[in-house]
Amino acid sequence: MGHGWEGVVLKLMRGRDFSLTVTGAEDVTEHCRRVHFTDGGMLAVTGVYPTMWVRVWFPGANRPHQRAYTLVDPDPVAGTFAVEFALHEGPASRWARAAEPGETVQATVQGSAFAEPDPLPERMFLIGDSASVPAINTLLSALPEVPATVWLETRYGSDGNLPLRVRPARHEVRRVPREDAGARLVAAVRADLPGLLGDPAAAYVWIACDTATTRALARFTRKELAVPGSRVHALGYWRP
Ligand SMILES: Cc1cc2nc3c(=O)[nH]c(=O)nc-3n(C[C@H](O)[C@H](O)[C@H](O)COP(=O)(O)OP(=O)(O)OC[C@H]3O[C@@H](n4cnc5c(N)ncnc54)[C@H](O)[C@@H]3O)c2cc1C
Repeated sequence: MGHGWEGVVLKLMRGRDFSLTVTGAEDVTEHCRRVHFTDGGMLAVTGVYPTMWVRVWFPGANRPHQRAYTLVDPDPVAGTFAVEFALHEGPASRWARAAEPGETVQATVQGSAFAEPDPLPERMFLIGDSASVPAINTLLSALPEVPATVWLETRYGSDGNLPLRVRPARHEVRRVPREDAGARLVAAVRADLPGLLGDPAAAYVWIACDTATTRALARFTRKELAVPGSRVHALGYWRP
């Protein structure tokens, strides 16, 4: 039985902009900051679905910079959501470090969509890092009946405290320190996924790491493990 998210493609929303207002912020870890927003009417129009993201415009020296961010706990009735920013250098991270209540940013809703795997997978394999923890959490929450193995690439000791919404009875987390530009994660998945996969057509593999790591893992999953394209979702979340 579907959850009705399939087809929540925002056909009417091409390039539509909304004004987001900061209502508060807190540190999740020393390298992750959660910022709370009111949505400027966005969610009432778009609805919400797993892995939903928006393009947010952040101030830069000469021009605004657009960056993609995942919605955390979107509430269409209250018109609120949060964003969990993995912090590094860059306009979005700079803005998040200093965000104060009352500040506004523009968001463009375009390109985000979610197709629920149908039939439901026997097991989900979710591969990401601090930037994709918010999206991984939405998948774990949206399909709570599906067991999952999560590979999480970590950069800092505090990444162990990122708020992964796992249920130990159903979800297994494998943390892999980032080394050699993602090569250690690729090696870990290559070593372990074949023995866990089962029927490739009954699996669902979701990959969101840096672009090169994502590409390597997607190729491995589709070509070497023969997981059908419809059961693999891969999107690079950031460029090294
Ligand atoms: C669909 C989608 C959803 C996303 N959701 C989230 C989210 O919810 N939370 C989140 O934190 N990110 C998320 N990202 C990733 C985020 O958009 C990028 O990390 C973005 O580049 C950050 O912009 P910036 O201005 O801080 O840094 P940039 O100006 O893009 O980059 C500055 C420097 O930081 C490095 N860098 C950028 N991102 C990272 C990173 N994640 N880890 C390590 N180094 C990095 C770059 O290589 C560069 O050297 C998402 C990306 C996509 C495509």
